[in-house]
Amino acid sequence: MLDILKEITTSLPKSKISAAAFEGANIVLYTKDEKYVFEGTSDVKAIVNKLKKRIELRPDPSICMDMEKAEKQIKKLIGKEAGIGEIHFDPQRSCVIIEAEKPGAAIGKSGEKLLEIKKKTLWVPTIQRTAAIKSQIVENIRSVLYENSDFRRNFLHKTGERIYNGWLRQKKEEWIRITYLGAAREVGKSAILLQTPESRVLLDCGINVADNKAPYPYLEAPEFKIDELDAVIISHAHLDHVGFLPYLFKFGYRGPVYCTAPTRDIMCLSQLDLVKIQVNDGQDPIYTSEEVKEMVKHTITLNYEEVTDITPDVRITLYNAGHMLGSSMIHLHIGNGLHNILYTGDLKFGKTHALSQAACTFPRLETLMIESTYGGKDSVLPPFKEQDEKLKSMIEETVKRKGKVLMPVLGSGRAQEVLIIIQDMIKNKRIKEIPIYIDGMVWDMTAIYTAYPEFLNNTMRNRIFHKNDNPFLYPNIKHIGSRKEREQLIESTEPCIILATSGMLVGGPSVEYLKKIGDDPKHSLIFTCYQGPGSLGRRIQQGERSFSYKEKGNFLTTEIKLQIEKFTVTGHSDRRELMNFVYRCNPKPKRIIINHGEPKQSADLASSMRRSYNVEVNLPRNLDALRLK
Ligand code: ZN
Repeated sequence: MLDILKEITTSLPKSKISAAAFEGANIVLYTKDEKYVFEGTSDVKAIVNKLKKRIELRPDPSICMDMEKAEKQIKKLIGKEAGIGEIHFDPQRSCVIIEAEKPGAAIGKSGEKLLEIKKKTLWVPTIQRTAAIKSQIVENIRSVLYENSDFRRNFLHKTGERIYNGWLRQKKEEWIRITYLGAAREVGKSAILLQTPESRVLLDCGINVADNKAPYPYLEAPEFKIDELDAVIISHAHLDHVGFLPYLFKFGYRGPVYCTAPTRDIMCLSQLDLVKIQVNDGQDPIYTSEEVKEMVKHTITLNYEEVTDITPDVRITLYNAGHMLGSSMIHLHIGNGLHNILYTGDLKFGKTHALSQAACTFPRLETLMIESTYGGKDSVLPPFKEQDEKLKSMIEETVKRKGKVLMPVLGSGRAQEVLIIIQDMIKNKRIKEIPIYIDGMVWDMTAIYTAYPEFLNNTMRNRIFHKNDNPFLYPNIKHIGSRKEREQLIESTEPCIILATSGMLVGGPSVEYLKKIGDDPKHSLIFTCYQGPGSLGRRIQQGERSFSYKEKGNFLTTEIKLQIEKFTVTGHSDRRELMNFVYRCNPKPKRIIINHGEPKQSADLASSMRRSYNVEVNLPRNLDALRLK
């Protein structure tokens, strides 16, 4: 047994503790003494205060009530009004997950129902919200976790051993180094390797969907050794940050992946969608659903502002980034106060319809690694009102022409923002009610939004919980679930709005619609997100008015005659917001590293930050390494 576990067990009354194990950075003690489960809490509290570690006391699995009986008991104790769904037991860890439509009612006043369940059954209950929209894929993700209960207990214990086992490597001096394996002077393939004398940590592992020449991060860099990697931390679920992650599992990585729960669910969706698109395009997929499953099994989810050790000398905290559901900025505390880094991932330092603005107060901060997607001198977003009016009139004009509005969207985040905006126009009677068809992974994504309302901003949470006004559930939303339904929609003459992935027109249903409706001027095409260089979306924005493709062995061309517009609802900060974020950052960073932007955007932002804040600003290229300490 490891020293820390020994120290804990010997400081508790003899014979009370039957087992001690790690669950990542947390420590779990098991007892076979039914009374001690409740009476032992004060003993445990004393150790928590002494060691400053999260320690939980649980009943030993052998004394938990028989599962069938426990299920009946749980249903009786919670009562019908909570709308109990499925109940999943995790027999290795004495835990039970109870799905409920109304978590509040299931938990009871200050948790009284949960305590009652624990007392009666000796299972430790957690309540999980039932998603208001059913999604097969979300259920699959959850069942992967439930089915691998044995594996999870071992994996979490091993992860804890790595954290607590002390140093693997000889520590001769202290240094910190980061290497850009991607996303330096480009938007795409975010992957940054952090090295300390003890740890190897990867921040994000994305692909560049728009770049055919170098779509994947430079894992061949000499610094990167997959078998030495301790942990991967994911900022958010967009493919340019997670698209390459299952590939690590294909090549043997078996360590933890840290992210928020919505990020885990959404990244699975995006990765499986990517595989599907590659197969449909006749390519060999870079990985399969097996590797995605492996990734899920190795994921450890964290809440915002939950502090956790991930190696002996790296402690992380995720902060809200305001960019999409579950998006985080990663704060890394290295060594014992040696250095603090904030990696922003993609951030929105401004309010959106669904999310709160990014956090800007941190316990300590020396190095800031910040995105620069809209960092250029002229990257100032038009006022929302102006855009909103433009979208409104575009929809109205298209409806008048009896056309369809095709909006290519990123599955995650932007699509839901667009949905809320249009639904609010209808609700406030600014436009007539119009059907909104949702194709591609946007549907499943919307399901995830309804499953994690606690990650939405206050206004949206209130609408959903207290006013029963969930814009994702209005009856005009329709799901396109098959090729046949898509064909029927294309054939129909009914004016409508179509939200379809991919957002840059690089494969997926959005391209399928464009092939069929692109040559008819009564329809319109509205871009909603950044269009990467080389993507069909960017080419159309630059004036290309036809595109060719292969269909059933024939080469076909579609002329582009529909009305084209841009409606920028971005989850990114524009230049003013980026500058403002650094201005508001508390404490002020001593060094700023600019990444995740096209060369000109990054360079513009770097020079402005240098001038305004008088700190060291770096503008690395891919494969550059920087020593931070
Ligand atoms: Zn993003």
